[in-house]
Amino acid sequence: MYNQSQINTFTFVIIFFYTFVNMSQTIQLYDSILKEYDSFKEVNLSGRYLSEEGLLNAIHRFSKIIKTKKEGVSEEGRSIFSFEIGKGSTKILIWSQMHGNETTTTKAVFDVLNYFSYDQVVADVILKNCKLLIIPVLNPDGAIAYTRVNSNGVDLNRDATVQTQSESKVLQRVYHEFQPSFCLNMHDQRTIFSAGRSNHPATVSFLSPAYNTQRDINQAREVSMSLIAKANKVLQQFIPNQVGRYDDSFNINCIGDYFQQKGTPTVLFEAGHFAHDYEREQTRRFICIALLEMLTAVANNDIVAPAQEYFSIPENEKLFYDVIIRGATTEDKPVDLAVQYTEVLTNKQIQFLPIIEKIGDLSSYYGHREVNANQLLFQLKPSTLLKEGEVLKEFLLNDKVIVV
Ligand SMILES: [Zn+2]
Repeated sequence: MYNQSQINTFTFVIIFFYTFVNMSQTIQLYDSILKEYDSFKEVNLSGRYLSEEGLLNAIHRFSKIIKTKKEGVSEEGRSIFSFEIGKGSTKILIWSQMHGNETTTTKAVFDVLNYFSYDQVVADVILKNCKLLIIPVLNPDGAIAYTRVNSNGVDLNRDATVQTQSESKVLQRVYHEFQPSFCLNMHDQRTIFSAGRSNHPATVSFLSPAYNTQRDINQAREVSMSLIAKANKVLQQFIPNQVGRYDDSFNINCIGDYFQQKGTPTVLFEAGHFAHDYEREQTRRFICIALLEMLTAVANNDIVAPAQEYFSIPENEKLFYDVIIRGATTEDKPVDLAVQYTEVLTNKQIQFLPIIEKIGDLSSYYGHREVNANQLLFQLKPSTLLKEGEVLKEFLLNDKVIVV
Protein backbone atom coordinates (compact mmCIF):
# COMPACT_ATOMS: atom_id res chain seq x y z
CA MET A 1 0.00 0.00 0.00
CA TYR A 2 1.07 3.60 -0.54
CA ASN A 3 1.11 6.17 2.21
CA GLN A 4 -0.56 9.58 1.82
CA SER A 5 2.69 11.37 0.96
CA GLN A 6 3.46 8.85 -1.81
CA ILE A 7 -0.06 9.28 -3.18
CA ASN A 8 0.34 13.08 -3.13
CA THR A 9 3.64 12.84 -5.00
CA PHE A 10 2.11 10.41 -7.50
CA THR A 11 -0.86 12.74 -8.07
CA PHE A 12 1.47 15.71 -8.53
CA VAL A 13 3.54 13.81 -11.14
CA ILE A 14 0.39 12.81 -13.05
CA ILE A 15 -0.97 16.38 -13.05
CA PHE A 16 2.41 17.77 -14.08
CA PHE A 17 2.73 15.24 -16.90
CA TYR A 18 -0.85 15.84 -18.05
CA THR A 19 -0.33 19.62 -18.09
CA PHE A 20 2.93 19.24 -19.98
CA VAL A 21 1.40 16.96 -22.66
CA ASN A 22 -1.62 19.23 -22.92
CA MET A 23 0.53 22.31 -23.40
CA SER A 24 2.73 20.71 -26.04
CA GLN A 25 -0.39 19.64 -27.97
CA THR A 26 -1.66 23.21 -27.75
CA ILE A 27 1.64 24.57 -29.05
CA GLN A 28 1.63 22.04 -31.91
CA LEU A 29 -1.84 23.18 -32.89
CA TYR A 30 -0.85 26.87 -32.99
CA ASP A 31 2.37 26.04 -34.78
CA SER A 32 0.36 24.35 -37.54
CA ILE A 33 -2.13 27.25 -37.61
CA LEU A 34 0.74 29.70 -38.20
CA LYS A 35 2.27 27.45 -40.89
CA GLU A 36 -1.06 27.07 -42.69
CA TYR A 37 -2.13 30.67 -42.18
CA ASP A 38 -2.20 31.57 -45.88
CA SER A 39 -4.72 28.78 -46.49
CA PHE A 40 -7.45 30.46 -44.47
CA LYS A 41 -6.58 34.11 -43.95
CA GLU A 42 -8.88 36.79 -45.34
CA VAL A 43 -6.87 37.72 -48.44
CA ASN A 44 -9.12 40.65 -49.35
CA LEU A 45 -8.03 42.52 -46.25
CA SER A 46 -4.33 43.27 -46.06
CA GLY A 47 -1.90 46.05 -45.20
CA ARG A 48 -2.61 48.91 -42.84
CA TYR A 49 -5.51 50.51 -44.70
CA LEU A 50 -8.70 48.53 -45.19
CA SER A 51 -10.78 50.17 -47.91
CA GLU A 52 -14.54 50.58 -47.59
CA GLU A 53 -15.05 48.32 -50.63
CA GLY A 54 -12.78 45.62 -49.20
CA LEU A 55 -14.55 45.67 -45.85
CA LEU A 56 -18.06 45.71 -47.35
CA ASN A 57 -17.12 42.86 -49.71
CA ALA A 58 -15.84 40.78 -46.82
CA ILE A 59 -18.93 41.54 -44.71
CA HIS A 60 -21.21 40.73 -47.66
CA ARG A 61 -19.45 37.41 -48.25
CA PHE A 62 -19.73 36.41 -44.59
CA SER A 63 -23.39 37.48 -44.50
CA LYS A 64 -24.16 34.42 -46.66
CA ILE A 65 -22.77 31.99 -44.09
CA ILE A 66 -23.03 33.82 -40.73
CA LYS A 67 -25.96 35.66 -39.17
CA THR A 68 -25.19 39.30 -40.01
CA LYS A 69 -27.05 42.30 -38.64
CA LYS A 70 -26.93 46.03 -39.17
CA GLU A 71 -26.69 47.25 -35.57
CA GLY A 72 -26.96 50.93 -36.39
CA VAL A 73 -25.23 53.74 -38.21
CA SER A 74 -22.21 55.94 -37.61
CA GLU A 75 -22.31 59.73 -37.31
CA GLU A 76 -21.90 59.95 -41.11
CA GLY A 77 -24.58 57.33 -41.69
CA ARG A 78 -22.37 54.34 -42.49
CA SER A 79 -23.68 50.93 -41.41
CA ILE A 80 -22.21 49.24 -38.34
CA PHE A 81 -22.51 45.48 -38.79
CA SER A 82 -22.28 42.55 -36.42
CA PHE A 83 -21.78 38.83 -36.94
CA GLU A 84 -23.33 36.28 -34.61
CA ILE A 85 -21.89 32.78 -34.59
CA GLY A 86 -22.05 29.82 -32.20
CA LYS A 87 -24.78 28.03 -30.27
CA GLY A 88 -23.30 27.95 -26.78
CA SER A 89 -24.53 29.60 -23.63
CA THR A 90 -21.36 31.58 -22.88
CA LYS A 91 -21.65 34.88 -24.69
CA ILE A 92 -18.60 36.80 -25.88
CA LEU A 93 -18.80 40.30 -27.35
CA ILE A 94 -15.87 41.35 -29.57
CA TRP A 95 -15.44 44.72 -31.28
CA SER A 96 -12.59 46.02 -33.42
CA GLN A 97 -11.64 49.32 -35.05
CA MET A 98 -13.22 51.49 -32.39
CA HIS A 99 -10.19 53.54 -33.44
CA GLY A 100 -10.46 53.83 -37.21
CA ASN A 101 -6.74 53.59 -37.97
CA GLU A 102 -6.26 50.37 -35.97
CA THR A 103 -6.90 47.66 -38.52
CA THR A 104 -4.71 44.70 -37.51
CA THR A 105 -7.22 43.19 -35.12
CA THR A 106 -9.98 43.58 -37.73
CA LYS A 107 -7.92 41.46 -40.12
CA ALA A 108 -7.36 38.91 -37.33
CA VAL A 109 -11.07 38.75 -36.46
CA PHE A 110 -11.94 37.91 -40.09
CA ASP A 111 -9.13 35.32 -40.08
CA VAL A 112 -10.65 33.69 -36.98
CA LEU A 113 -14.05 33.52 -38.70
CA ASN A 114 -12.42 31.91 -41.74
CA TYR A 115 -10.58 29.49 -39.47
CA PHE A 116 -13.88 28.19 -38.11
CA SER A 117 -14.65 26.85 -41.61
CA TYR A 118 -11.12 25.50 -41.99
CA ASP A 119 -10.74 23.52 -38.75
CA GLN A 120 -13.96 21.82 -37.68
CA VAL A 121 -12.46 20.42 -34.46
CA VAL A 122 -11.48 23.80 -33.03
CA ALA A 123 -14.67 25.38 -34.39
CA ASP A 124 -16.82 22.71 -32.71
CA VAL A 125 -15.25 23.25 -29.30
CA ILE A 126 -15.69 27.03 -29.44
CA LEU A 127 -19.02 27.30 -31.25
CA LYS A 128 -20.81 24.54 -29.30
CA ASN A 129 -20.01 26.21 -26.02
CA CYS A 130 -19.95 29.90 -26.92
CA LYS A 131 -21.98 32.43 -28.82
CA LEU A 132 -19.86 35.19 -30.34
CA LEU A 133 -21.16 38.59 -31.31
CA ILE A 134 -18.52 40.39 -33.36
CA ILE A 135 -18.56 44.02 -34.51
CA PRO A 136 -15.63 44.05 -36.95
CA VAL A 137 -15.61 47.83 -37.50
CA LEU A 138 -17.23 49.97 -34.80
CA ASN A 139 -15.98 53.28 -36.24
CA PRO A 140 -16.51 53.01 -40.01
CA ASP A 141 -16.09 56.78 -40.60
CA GLY A 142 -12.70 56.77 -38.88
CA ALA A 143 -11.82 53.58 -40.75
CA ILE A 144 -12.38 55.24 -44.14
CA ALA A 145 -10.56 58.44 -43.13
CA TYR A 146 -7.84 56.41 -41.34
CA THR A 147 -8.20 58.39 -38.12
CA ARG A 148 -8.24 57.31 -34.50
CA VAL A 149 -11.31 59.46 -33.83
CA ASN A 150 -14.77 59.35 -35.43
CA SER A 151 -16.07 61.93 -37.93
CA ASN A 152 -16.80 64.44 -35.13
CA GLY A 153 -13.24 64.18 -33.88
CA VAL A 154 -14.31 62.22 -30.78
CA ASP A 155 -12.20 59.41 -29.35
CA LEU A 156 -14.83 56.70 -28.83
CA ASN A 157 -12.64 55.15 -26.16
CA ARG A 158 -13.20 58.24 -24.00
CA ASP A 159 -16.94 58.34 -24.59
CA ALA A 160 -18.03 55.38 -22.45
CA THR A 161 -19.94 57.22 -19.74
CA VAL A 162 -21.38 60.17 -21.65
CA GLN A 163 -22.10 58.25 -24.87
CA THR A 164 -22.44 61.32 -27.04
CA GLN A 165 -21.68 59.54 -30.34
CA SER A 166 -23.84 57.17 -32.40
CA GLU A 167 -21.06 54.57 -32.47
CA SER A 168 -20.87 54.55 -28.64
CA LYS A 169 -24.65 54.23 -28.41
CA VAL A 170 -24.61 51.26 -30.80
CA LEU A 171 -21.98 49.46 -28.71
CA GLN A 172 -23.82 50.15 -25.46
CA ARG A 173 -27.14 48.93 -26.85
CA VAL A 174 -25.53 45.76 -28.18
CA TYR A 175 -23.86 45.20 -24.80
CA HIS A 176 -27.16 45.60 -22.90
CA GLU A 177 -29.15 43.41 -25.29
CA PHE A 178 -26.56 40.67 -25.69
CA GLN A 179 -25.49 40.62 -22.02
CA PRO A 180 -22.05 39.13 -22.67
CA SER A 181 -20.16 37.01 -20.15
CA PHE A 182 -16.89 38.34 -21.63
CA CYS A 183 -15.80 41.33 -23.73
CA LEU A 184 -12.79 41.55 -26.04
CA ASN A 185 -11.80 45.10 -26.97
CA MET A 186 -9.49 45.05 -30.02
CA HIS A 187 -6.90 47.75 -30.81
CA ASP A 188 -3.51 48.57 -32.39
CA GLN A 189 -0.65 50.32 -30.62
CA ARG A 190 2.20 52.47 -31.93
CA THR A 191 5.68 51.15 -32.73
CA ILE A 192 7.22 53.01 -29.76
CA PHE A 193 6.42 50.34 -27.19
CA SER A 194 8.88 47.80 -25.82
CA ALA A 195 7.84 44.84 -23.73
CA GLY A 196 9.29 46.06 -20.43
CA ARG A 197 12.71 47.74 -20.21
CA SER A 198 14.12 45.66 -23.05
CA ASN A 199 15.01 45.82 -26.71
CA HIS A 200 12.04 43.60 -27.56
CA PRO A 201 9.13 45.32 -29.28
CA ALA A 202 5.70 44.79 -27.72
CA THR A 203 4.27 42.83 -30.67
CA VAL A 204 1.14 42.05 -28.70
CA SER A 205 0.00 43.83 -25.54
CA PHE A 206 -2.86 43.15 -23.19
CA LEU A 207 -4.66 44.83 -20.37
CA SER A 208 -7.12 43.63 -17.82
CA PRO A 209 -8.59 47.10 -17.21
CA ALA A 210 -9.05 48.43 -13.70
CA TYR A 211 -12.59 48.89 -12.39
CA ASN A 212 -11.68 51.43 -9.71
CA THR A 213 -8.93 53.96 -8.99
CA GLN A 214 -7.34 51.64 -6.41
CA ARG A 215 -6.88 49.08 -9.21
CA ASP A 216 -8.29 46.37 -6.96
CA ILE A 217 -8.70 42.87 -8.28
CA ASN A 218 -12.25 41.57 -8.24
CA GLN A 219 -13.57 38.39 -9.81
CA ALA A 220 -14.21 39.92 -13.23
CA ARG A 221 -10.74 41.38 -13.37
CA GLU A 222 -9.15 38.13 -12.22
CA VAL A 223 -10.95 36.22 -14.96
CA SER A 224 -9.65 38.56 -17.66
CA MET A 225 -6.16 38.33 -16.14
CA SER A 226 -6.39 34.55 -16.43
CA LEU A 227 -7.39 34.74 -20.08
CA ILE A 228 -4.45 37.03 -20.79
CA ALA A 229 -2.09 34.67 -18.94
CA LYS A 230 -3.35 31.82 -21.13
CA ALA A 231 -2.75 33.72 -24.36
CA ASN A 232 0.64 34.91 -23.14
CA LYS A 233 1.78 31.34 -22.50
CA VAL A 234 1.06 30.46 -26.13
CA LEU A 235 2.52 33.66 -27.59
CA GLN A 236 5.79 33.23 -25.67
CA GLN A 237 6.47 30.11 -27.76
CA PHE A 238 6.35 32.10 -31.00
CA ILE A 239 7.33 35.66 -30.04
CA PRO A 240 9.38 35.20 -26.85
CA ASN A 241 9.68 38.37 -24.71
CA GLN A 242 7.48 40.32 -27.16
CA VAL A 243 4.30 40.44 -25.12
CA GLY A 244 3.61 43.51 -23.00
CA ARG A 245 1.13 44.56 -20.38
CA TYR A 246 -0.57 47.95 -20.57
CA ASP A 247 -0.69 50.48 -17.77
CA ASP A 248 -3.84 49.91 -15.69
CA SER A 249 -4.60 53.45 -14.55
CA PHE A 250 -8.34 53.68 -14.13
CA ASN A 251 -10.39 55.85 -16.49
CA ILE A 252 -14.13 55.20 -16.43
CA ASN A 253 -14.48 56.94 -19.81
CA CYS A 254 -12.50 54.10 -21.41
CA ILE A 255 -14.83 51.40 -22.58
CA GLY A 256 -12.85 48.48 -21.10
CA ASP A 257 -12.77 50.06 -17.63
CA TYR A 258 -16.47 50.83 -17.99
CA PHE A 259 -17.52 47.26 -18.85
CA GLN A 260 -15.14 45.82 -16.26
CA GLN A 261 -16.84 48.07 -13.68
CA LYS A 262 -20.17 46.62 -14.78
CA GLY A 263 -18.76 43.22 -13.76
CA THR A 264 -18.11 41.84 -17.25
CA PRO A 265 -14.58 40.41 -17.57
CA THR A 266 -12.99 42.49 -20.34
CA VAL A 267 -9.69 42.07 -22.15
CA LEU A 268 -7.94 44.82 -24.10
CA PHE A 269 -5.89 43.59 -27.07
CA GLU A 270 -3.22 45.80 -28.63
CA ALA A 271 -1.58 44.68 -31.89
CA GLY A 272 1.95 46.08 -32.09
CA HIS A 273 5.18 46.01 -34.06
CA PHE A 274 6.97 42.90 -35.30
CA ALA A 275 10.39 43.31 -36.97
CA HIS A 276 10.13 44.72 -40.53
CA ASP A 277 6.36 44.28 -40.46
CA TYR A 278 4.95 47.78 -40.89
CA GLU A 279 1.96 46.31 -42.74
CA ARG A 280 1.24 44.20 -39.63
CA GLU A 281 0.72 41.05 -41.66
CA GLN A 282 2.76 39.03 -39.15
CA THR A 283 1.14 40.58 -36.09
CA ARG A 284 -2.34 39.68 -37.37
CA ARG A 285 -1.30 36.03 -37.07
CA PHE A 286 -0.29 36.36 -33.44
CA ILE A 287 -3.54 38.18 -32.64
CA CYS A 288 -5.45 35.35 -34.32
CA ILE A 289 -3.84 32.60 -32.24
CA ALA A 290 -4.21 34.63 -29.04
CA LEU A 291 -7.91 35.04 -29.83
CA LEU A 292 -8.34 31.34 -30.56
CA GLU A 293 -6.58 30.43 -27.31
CA MET A 294 -8.82 32.73 -25.27
CA LEU A 295 -12.00 31.50 -26.98
CA THR A 296 -10.95 27.88 -26.42
CA ALA A 297 -10.20 28.59 -22.75
CA VAL A 298 -13.66 30.14 -22.31
CA ALA A 299 -15.30 27.26 -24.20
CA ASN A 300 -13.59 24.69 -21.97
CA ASN A 301 -14.17 26.78 -18.84
CA ASP A 302 -10.41 26.57 -18.36
CA ILE A 303 -9.72 30.01 -16.89
CA VAL A 304 -7.99 29.57 -13.59
CA ALA A 305 -4.50 30.93 -14.15
CA PRO A 306 -3.38 32.86 -11.06
CA ALA A 307 -3.13 36.66 -11.28
CA GLN A 308 0.65 36.48 -10.68
CA GLU A 309 1.08 35.05 -14.18
CA TYR A 310 -0.60 38.17 -15.54
CA PHE A 311 1.68 40.44 -13.50
CA SER A 312 4.75 38.51 -14.71
CA ILE A 313 4.12 40.00 -18.18
CA PRO A 314 6.38 43.08 -18.38
CA GLU A 315 4.68 46.46 -18.47
CA ASN A 316 5.06 48.40 -21.73
CA GLU A 317 7.74 51.07 -21.91
CA LYS A 318 8.25 53.67 -24.63
CA LEU A 319 11.80 52.75 -25.60
CA PHE A 320 11.56 52.43 -29.40
CA TYR A 321 11.84 54.72 -32.36
CA ASP A 322 11.38 53.52 -35.93
CA VAL A 323 14.92 54.53 -36.96
CA ILE A 324 17.89 55.64 -34.86
CA ILE A 325 21.00 57.07 -36.53
CA ARG A 326 23.84 56.92 -34.03
CA GLY A 327 27.04 58.92 -33.91
CA ALA A 328 26.46 61.14 -36.92
CA THR A 329 29.07 63.89 -37.16
CA THR A 330 27.53 67.19 -38.10
CA GLU A 331 29.47 70.46 -38.44
CA ASP A 332 30.08 70.82 -34.74
CA LYS A 333 29.63 67.51 -32.86
CA PRO A 334 28.44 63.90 -33.11
CA VAL A 335 24.71 63.43 -32.45
CA ASP A 336 22.10 60.70 -32.40
CA LEU A 337 18.89 61.17 -34.34
CA ALA A 338 15.57 59.41 -33.84
CA VAL A 339 13.09 59.19 -36.68
CA GLN A 340 9.46 58.19 -36.31
CA TYR A 341 7.19 57.33 -39.23
CA THR A 342 3.91 59.20 -39.53
CA GLU A 343 1.20 57.26 -41.34
CA VAL A 344 -0.31 59.25 -44.20
CA LEU A 345 -3.27 58.03 -46.25
CA THR A 346 -2.63 58.61 -49.97
CA ASN A 347 -4.72 56.94 -52.70
CA LYS A 348 -6.00 54.25 -50.32
CA GLN A 349 -2.46 53.33 -49.32
CA ILE A 350 -0.58 54.20 -46.17
CA GLN A 351 2.70 56.02 -46.77
CA PHE A 352 5.20 56.11 -43.92
CA LEU A 353 6.58 59.63 -43.74
CA PRO A 354 9.86 59.81 -41.75
CA ILE A 355 9.91 62.72 -39.27
CA ILE A 356 12.86 63.68 -37.03
CA GLU A 357 11.47 63.07 -33.55
CA LYS A 358 14.49 63.69 -31.36
CA ILE A 359 18.07 64.91 -31.69
CA GLY A 360 20.44 64.25 -28.78
CA ASP A 361 21.63 61.37 -26.63
CA LEU A 362 19.58 58.28 -27.47
CA SER A 363 21.76 55.72 -25.69
CA SER A 364 18.85 54.36 -23.65
CA TYR A 365 16.56 53.90 -26.67
CA TYR A 366 16.33 51.31 -29.42
CA GLY A 367 15.60 51.66 -33.12
CA HIS A 368 13.56 49.13 -35.06
CA ARG A 369 16.22 50.01 -37.61
CA GLU A 370 19.60 51.21 -36.41
CA VAL A 371 22.06 53.09 -38.62
CA ASN A 372 25.54 53.34 -37.15
CA ALA A 373 27.07 56.44 -38.66
CA ASN A 374 30.50 55.61 -37.14
CA GLN A 375 31.32 59.31 -36.73
CA LEU A 376 31.15 59.74 -40.49
CA LEU A 377 30.20 63.13 -41.85
CA PHE A 378 26.41 63.47 -41.81
CA GLN A 379 24.90 65.81 -44.38
CA LEU A 380 21.35 66.68 -45.22
CA LYS A 381 20.03 67.43 -48.66
CA PRO A 382 20.13 71.21 -49.18
CA SER A 383 16.34 71.50 -48.91
CA THR A 384 16.06 69.89 -45.48
CA LEU A 385 16.76 71.15 -41.97
CA LEU A 386 18.31 69.28 -39.08
CA LYS A 387 15.51 70.05 -36.69
CA GLU A 388 12.97 68.07 -34.68
CA GLY A 389 9.67 67.89 -36.55
CA GLU A 390 11.29 68.02 -40.02
CA VAL A 391 10.87 65.32 -42.67
CA LEU A 392 14.02 63.23 -43.24
CA LYS A 393 13.60 61.09 -46.31
CA GLU A 394 17.32 60.62 -46.98
CA PHE A 395 20.73 61.88 -45.97
CA LEU A 396 24.39 61.56 -46.90
CA LEU A 397 27.05 59.74 -44.89
CA ASN A 398 30.44 60.64 -46.42
CA ASP A 399 28.66 61.17 -49.77
CA LYS A 400 26.79 57.85 -49.61
CA VAL A 401 23.00 58.28 -49.85
CA ILE A 402 21.02 56.56 -47.08
CA VAL A 403 17.25 56.35 -47.53
CA VAL A 404 15.19 56.54 -44.35
ZN1 LIG B 1 -7.02 51.98 -29.93
